Amino acid sequence: MTLSTSRQQFLAHETHTVDEDIEYDRKGGVFISHCVCCSLVVLAIVIAALVGIIVYFITCHKLTQKPEEYWNEQPDYQELVASGVRLPSEVVPSFYRLKIKADLDTLNFTGDVYITIRASRKVKEIILHSKYLSIGPNPKVTEQIYEKVETLHRRAKRDVEKTSTSPTLENKPETQTANTTPPPPSISTKMSIDSSNTTATIVNSTTSSTTQNVSNASMRSSNTSVFIDKLANITESQGNADNISNRRANWETQVTTSSVRNIKIVSILEASGDRLILTLASALKPNVDYILEMSFQGNISNSMTGFYKSTYKNEKQEERTIAATQFEPTSARRAFPCFDEPAFKAQFEISIAHKQNLTVLSNMKVSTQELIADQPGWQWTHFDRSVKMSTYLVAYVMCDFVSIATSYVSKDNIIKPVKVWVRPELLQKARYALTITPKLLEYYEDLFGVPYALDKIDLIGIPDFSSGAMENWGLITFREPFFLVDEGTSTVRERMQVGIAAAHELAHQWFGNLVTMRWWTDLWLNEGFATYIEFVGFDHVEPGLHILEQFTRYKMDLLRPDSLRSTQAVSRAVTDAADIAQKFNELSYQKGANLIRMLNHTISETLFQKGLVHYLNEWKYTNAEENDLWEAMSNVTKTDPELKDRSIVTFMNSWTRQAGYPVVNVLRNYEAGDAQFEQRLFTVSSEPYERMVKQIWQLPISYTSVGMPGNWSTKPKLWLTEREITAKIDVASDQALYVNVGAIGYYRVNYDQKNWQMLSEALKNGQVKSAITRAQLIDDAFNLAKASLLSYSEALSLTTYAIEGEDSKAVWDTILTNMGFLKTNLASTAGYTRFQDYVRLLISKQLAKLKYGLEKPRDDNEALLVEGLVSWDCEMESPRCRDWATHEFNIWMNTGGTGNPIPAHLRLIVYDTALRYGGRREFEFVLSRFYNTTDPSGKERLIASLPSVRDEALINTLLEKSLSEIPKQYAGAVWSTAPPFAAQVARKFLQKNFYRVYNTFTGIDEFMFRAILDGSFDTVNTQEDLDQLRAFARLHAAELKPMSQSVARLVDTAALRVRWFNNHAETINQWLDNYLTNFTKSPKDTTTSSTPSPTTSTRITTPSNSTDITTTAPLAEITISTT
Ligand SMILES: [Zn+2]
Repeated sequence: MTLSTSRQQFLAHETHTVDEDIEYDRKGGVFISHCVCCSLVVLAIVIAALVGIIVYFITCHKLTQKPEEYWNEQPDYQELVASGVRLPSEVVPSFYRLKIKADLDTLNFTGDVYITIRASRKVKEIILHSKYLSIGPNPKVTEQIYEKVETLHRRAKRDVEKTSTSPTLENKPETQTANTTPPPPSISTKMSIDSSNTTATIVNSTTSSTTQNVSNASMRSSNTSVFIDKLANITESQGNADNISNRRANWETQVTTSSVRNIKIVSILEASGDRLILTLASALKPNVDYILEMSFQGNISNSMTGFYKSTYKNEKQEERTIAATQFEPTSARRAFPCFDEPAFKAQFEISIAHKQNLTVLSNMKVSTQELIADQPGWQWTHFDRSVKMSTYLVAYVMCDFVSIATSYVSKDNIIKPVKVWVRPELLQKARYALTITPKLLEYYEDLFGVPYALDKIDLIGIPDFSSGAMENWGLITFREPFFLVDEGTSTVRERMQVGIAAAHELAHQWFGNLVTMRWWTDLWLNEGFATYIEFVGFDHVEPGLHILEQFTRYKMDLLRPDSLRSTQAVSRAVTDAADIAQKFNELSYQKGANLIRMLNHTISETLFQKGLVHYLNEWKYTNAEENDLWEAMSNVTKTDPELKDRSIVTFMNSWTRQAGYPVVNVLRNYEAGDAQFEQRLFTVSSEPYERMVKQIWQLPISYTSVGMPGNWSTKPKLWLTEREITAKIDVASDQALYVNVGAIGYYRVNYDQKNWQMLSEALKNGQVKSAITRAQLIDDAFNLAKASLLSYSEALSLTTYAIEGEDSKAVWDTILTNMGFLKTNLASTAGYTRFQDYVRLLISKQLAKLKYGLEKPRDDNEALLVEGLVSWDCEMESPRCRDWATHEFNIWMNTGGTGNPIPAHLRLIVYDTALRYGGRREFEFVLSRFYNTTDPSGKERLIASLPSVRDEALINTLLEKSLSEIPKQYAGAVWSTAPPFAAQVARKFLQKNFYRVYNTFTGIDEFMFRAILDGSFDTVNTQEDLDQLRAFARLHAAELKPMSQSVARLVDTAALRVRWFNNHAETINQWLDNYLTNFTKSPKDTTTSSTPSPTTSTRITTPSNSTDITTTAPLAEITISTT
């Protein structure tokens, strides 16, 4: 799944402790005393230690590392079963025959499901999932009985044999229940539905208690024979080669008849954890096929999860309704009763009854369609049987959409159709997705060494969609702005969003779909891999966009929240139902991706790819855990002389099972030519957890000298696996040492003062040729300063070289993101104007060089850079920007919104700025454009800009609308309020209307409300607001439990801001003041003196070297309400 940008949440908290007095216990929301807790903890530790020892002895031939070396609170599986978080593993499904009849007029669906199950031991209970479904009155469990009858040939042969064997050998017909698999339909006789036959079988059986109601044990006859034929096929396809050949030998001599025996269901109970517990009169026998048959009905929901309704307005402004599914992580159970955990893989055969005017799509190709005789205008669409897959990947869509198609030839030489589906008026915008999909599929097939598993793929844009996209096998669903590109008006950023989403979901067709995580604990295997490969794949189709550089930039952004006290390990165990949704966060996605990339660069791309091919082939159609991947990698690194003695398991476990990451302190001995490397937890917390402080990582250290281009390998030159080591380094004493080449390693680096000085000089002299290295040095310096490991003066002085110009977007993004943290914290202080002056000085030359964005950018990269710098110019309240933006906005407003003259990549900035300085007129205009435009990307831009307005009443109006008339998928965006003013209004609104807001957004899906919390509290920076946040968390502890990690992170971040202000604000103000004063005196200054002060002018002050925009139209009167 691709998270939508607004919801890329970051999780937190190891113990879910938000604050001293707000504690979220993991099991069922029960609050337990510290005393009981301590006893339980001791008991748990003893049990865990015992389990750990057993596990160690079982697995030590594979793992060189003792599990207890790392923090790894793997929960006891039986405990999770007992608490209803997990299903018991004794009963396993292999096949679902699913028939659904869905009516978009009444928004109801009915269905029948026949699930083939087997038990691994005798059990009297079948437990599966069902949520918000009405289960029909007569579920049935039937045992499949396969009876072998000898052929005449076999009989004759046996008679001959009998004469030469012991006379005591029993001579009776072979009758058995199905502990052998049935033969293919061509040999078997069809299952008899005739009750007399069935009874006869049962009389011979040993479980006479199950004989009652046999004549009623009917599955509907017409379906059943077909069903059983298919069951026979499926069982065959699942057998291994040996079994198949054994069976063949039997078929030559025997035919099999089959019949059914009903197993009485004593009770059906709905239990916590969405469980449906069927208690049987007699136990299921091990290794026998049973069929569980249930009918059910439900509503096509009004949320964005399960089987849900989506609407759109066509060109005639008529509302059209479609229905789609979104099952990940746990919503398949809302659509049909099922074993809804990723490890219960099965094949699915789906049929959907629907009105003939609709198109129905599912994972597999359509096999047949048939009219429904007694219901004119309706038909059945039957789909092919699927490969083995998890329930969360099942999908179906009913719509009136159109498609365009292409195809590609897969590695196994099959022509596979690729289709993109969208509502009719947006068809042309789907061409980009159609163009890149075959390229990506072909590339992935080469990369993974495994052909795409299905024989078709459909991609479809859904008008109402909560996340970015979803990787349903063979039917990928997208939020429209993550799917559609308008060749004329889309920005490069929007094209990247679409390309990356497609590359992500297509990568999942292997990572996630073909090989799936065993349990949600390892979600990061799916998401981390897909996130890494999305960049690799998108780089393959759009190499000019240097997207891997962007990926490294994103890593720098991720390192910030991962240094909070409340951060958690990537593979932290899921022990609570609410934990599942919380796993969909930046740690699983971005950190997972970066750890895998670090592995790639450490062992080499060639070995990494070999390991991937090995892993995918070994685990395809099954489920795996992280160590299975590391084992696969270890298999290939054995051949490498440098790596053969290094355990990949130990290396990677140290990163995935420990929270946070280290800083490497480098202390050079310039005379001796060596350096001491020491690792410590990098944290911005004043009170980090002691356990985390003790952590030691396995660090691959690459280094070089910034003055020596050509020797910039990302391969490690040494390993830091202890607290510290001293090593000879081949860097001359007058050269700056640069550690962590290309910022590939997931750690920060701090140097001794002399080395920092040399690095700073190299930066100023233009010796640091790599943009990522420049960005990395600046990012490390700012964050070391934040953690009080370096002074802010040194960090800020690293930025001054950029005043003379810097062409890299990656570097600007890094500088300005770090400035963003300062901006939020300084915004209401007296020093803020100096901060604004410095940022405007910093960007002014580069902005002038880029003609202030007033000319068409030369290429995509320039467009991205211009967008970032102009946006900051406006943020810093530059009069030039304000006047330009309001002028552009007014021109557009004067057209009545018919044609938008603003270049697409600057629209969001113009809207934002016009709203910030505008009032009700601008607000209502943007809102009306939002409602009227059909372009999904345009809608996103418009709604995202609305919270920029600085009028309390208007923000309240907007927040109120988010609870009612703003379409669900856009409603969260209006809560992305700007600090300090709008964010404060949002906080007040949320506190006053908590239950309305909470119920609205948690009713949409399990992710949305986290965005509301973030929008309201993410920028809290005063003690008073922090106290309010804590009080809010305490007051609503029960409701906030499912997003406890988000709450913990918000509290941590706010506490950091408050502490930061006390420690650093003064130093920064002084530095800014000194620098600006000296700069003004220096002869180099041509910029600051000509930069008008924010309050001096409302005239457009277009710089002389930019295009004149002042003369075209008089400025409309605007209300400037600067607060
Ligand atoms: Zn994903």
